[in-house]
Amino acid sequence: MAPGAKPDRVAGENRLVVAIDGPAASGKSSTAHRVAMRAGLYHVDSGALYRAATAAELRVQPDVSRWTEAGLLTAVGVVGLEARATGFRPTISGGDIEAEIRGAGVTRHVSLVAQMPGIRAWVNEQIRALARRYDIVVDGRDIGTVVFPDAALKVFLVADPWERARRRLSERFERQPTEAEIAEETGRLVQRDARDATQTVQAKDAILIDTTALTQEEQVSRIVALVDAARGRELDRGSAGGG
Ligand code: C5P
Repeated sequence: MAPGAKPDRVAGENRLVVAIDGPAASGKSSTAHRVAMRAGLYHVDSGALYRAATAAELRVQPDVSRWTEAGLLTAVGVVGLEARATGFRPTISGGDIEAEIRGAGVTRHVSLVAQMPGIRAWVNEQIRALARRYDIVVDGRDIGTVVFPDAALKVFLVADPWERARRRLSERFERQPTEAEIAEETGRLVQRDARDATQTVQAKDAILIDTTALTQEEQVSRIVALVDAARGRELDRGSAGGG
C-alpha cells in the first residue's frame, strides 16, 4: 500500500463502510469526497475504476468493436490504486489518469465495460480489499446492493435530470450553461441512466436523498450526521458483544 493512508483497523475488527449510490451526475463523487474529509474516512470512487479499465483498453485497442471481456481483463493489469490523503485514485502504470478518465472517449464507452461480469468482479474485489483495511466511503451504482450489502450506512442520491445536467456543465464550463446546452446534456445523461439502469438499484435499507433543491453543503452535512449516527450504532453493537 502506498504511503499516505494508514490502515486504521486491524484484521478481524469491524470496519465502517458507507455506500453512496445514485445515477450519473447526481453529485455522488464530490459529495463522497467531502464526506470523507469531514468524517475521517477514505473515499473510493468505484466509477473511476470502471473508467480506468476503459482507459487502459482504449490505449491498447482504440477499435471498440474489437473489445472483449478477456481483452479488458488483461488490460486492467496495469491499473493500480494510489493512496491520497483522503482516498484512493486509480492509476495506469503508476501514472495519473484523472483527466483521461473524465474525457468524452472514456465516458462514451464505460457503460459497455461496466456490463462485463468479469470487470464488475475485478472492481468489486479492488474495493473489498480496501475495506478490509480502511474505513471507507464508496460511491457508485451497486455499492449498497451488491458490493457491501451489510454497509453500516447506505445513501441513495437522486436529482432531477435537468438539474444534474446544469450542475455538471456549470462545473465543466465554469460559467452558467445555456438552456440548449443543458437540454443536450440532459439527453446524454438520460441515455447513460438507461444504459446503467440494471446496476443502479436503491437498496431497501438505503436512505434516499433528493438533492435537486439542496446545496452541496446541505447534502454533505446531512450525510456526515448519518455517518456519526451509524458510527454510534456500530460502537453500541461492538460493546454489546455483537458483530
Ligand atoms: O460514476 P461515474 O459516472 O463516474 O461511473 C462511470 C460508469 O461506471 C457508469 O456510467 C456506469 O456504467 C459504471 N459504474 C457501474 N457501477 C458502479 C459505478 C460505476 O456500473 N458501481
